Amino acid sequence: MPFKYAQYIDLHIHSTASDGSLSPVQIIQAAKQSGLRAIAITDHDTLEGSIEALAFSESFLEIIPGIEISAQFSPGSMHILGYLMQTDNPSLRQTLRLLQKARAERNLRIVEKLKNLGLAFHYRELLDLAGGGQIGRPHFARALVRKGTVKDVDEAFDKYLKQGRAAYVSKYRLQPAEAIASIARAGGVPVLAHPCSLQATNEAALEKIVLDLKAVGLQGIEVYYPSHDADTMAIYEHLAHRHGMVMTGGTDYHGAAKPDIRLGVGKGDLRIPYRLVEGLKACKAQSH
Ligand code: AMP
Ligand code: FE
Ligand code: FE
Ligand code: ZN
Repeated sequence: MPFKYAQYIDLHIHSTASDGSLSPVQIIQAAKQSGLRAIAITDHDTLEGSIEALAFSESFLEIIPGIEISAQFSPGSMHILGYLMQTDNPSLRQTLRLLQKARAERNLRIVEKLKNLGLAFHYRELLDLAGGGQIGRPHFARALVRKGTVKDVDEAFDKYLKQGRAAYVSKYRLQPAEAIASIARAGGVPVLAHPCSLQATNEAALEKIVLDLKAVGLQGIEVYYPSHDADTMAIYEHLAHRHGMVMTGGTDYHGAAKPDIRLGVGKGDLRIPYRLVEGLKACKAQSH
């Protein structure tokens, strides 16, 4: 059901350029149908989704350049979102090329491990499944489903692909400060994605992580997110306010790859206001 007035946004979306199931153009169509006012395509470690979306931008739907970069962190995982970067920045593009190269090498090692488990398949199959986009574990999962080895993507991760399983290969990741700097150098606003994934044990622990990141250039926190309940969002909002950081929000839409999450509304009740885009722009204007 389209919104009556387009005042809502979704700033965390994956396309076929990484591990989502819709192409950037299909996402634009879906966003228009949902009545969204602005979106950002934030593919993992690549700007290609954003670049394609920007080329197809239309009136009534604002496209914000975006990316989501995985950073080294333990025990949880840390993703850094970037917004409003120059998509042709040579330094950022060089960093992303490095990540693509590491991924390609890792993919060959996963193929090898699966082969040793008696699950041989041709690299061609993965290329087809990725449709020209970046290949990652979700594509291996889909290949295993297609082969009939497992019933669904979740089972593929549980049995073979997740950490600790026989076909797992760790991914090369940037240090948090490197991920943040690569976005900032390209004129973008670095934002901590879904802070819940850091697995901080309490608010003070989370605040310490955020302040350490802020010291190396972090400028925002993803507050609106489908798995954040109202109390959690309030905590993240206060954290952002206390430290003069911007708030962002998005659904982490992956299309059919994450079927319980819908564009713009997450599990159904998320409403992310357009004023967050104005906050991002003001932040960029101040810092660059
Ligand atoms: P990669 O970057 O190749 O390691 O793949 C990571 C992506 O796999 C994440 O962005 C998720 O979309 C997906 N993923 C990770 N863990 C799972 C899981 N347990 N079940 C389904 N998808 C997953
Ligand atoms: Fe993903
Ligand atoms: Fe993420
Ligand atoms: Zn994401």
